[in-house]
Amino acid sequence: MPNITLSSYHELFAQKAQFFEALAHPKRLEIISLLSRGSLCVSEIQSMLGLAQANLSQHLSMLRKANIVSTKKNGKEVEYSLIDRDAFALLNTKAQNAKDIFPIVIDPVCKMRLTQQEIAERVVIQDREYCFCASGCKQLFEKNKEQYVTHCE
Ligand SMILES: [Zn+2]
Repeated sequence: MPNITLSSYHELFAQKAQFFEALAHPKRLEIISLLSRGSLCVSEIQSMLGLAQANLSQHLSMLRKANIVSTKKNGKEVEYSLIDRDAFALLNTKAQNAKDIFPIVIDPVCKMRLTQQEIAERVVIQDREYCFCASGCKQLFEKNKEQYVTHCE
């Protein structure tokens, strides 16, 4: 029989609670969703989410303590990667149909390719729908509409 002490038993549930606490914020779930497509530097995450640096650091540190993300030095920047895919899987439990995933659309601001389930924000202008990876890209789009709106005529 494995030697499980009462303290390691409690420790296990303390770790589980830390994991769910780290998930329990919309911005942190958004970060997990962004990182599911690949590693990103802090400045990239910051511009995608439109968050203040201090605020973002706090979210990233919680995700790191819960072992959901890891960091790596990349020149002057710190790069974040998603290491716990289960955290991302929990975000997608309802999306089992292919129709939730296709078609792929392009975020006009960051040019990221997004599946239907990855679209965080939408804006409709003159019957055309624009889709965004995160609230930061939508904010940039709304500030500089002329730059991003495509004219078909
Ligand atoms: Zn974007």
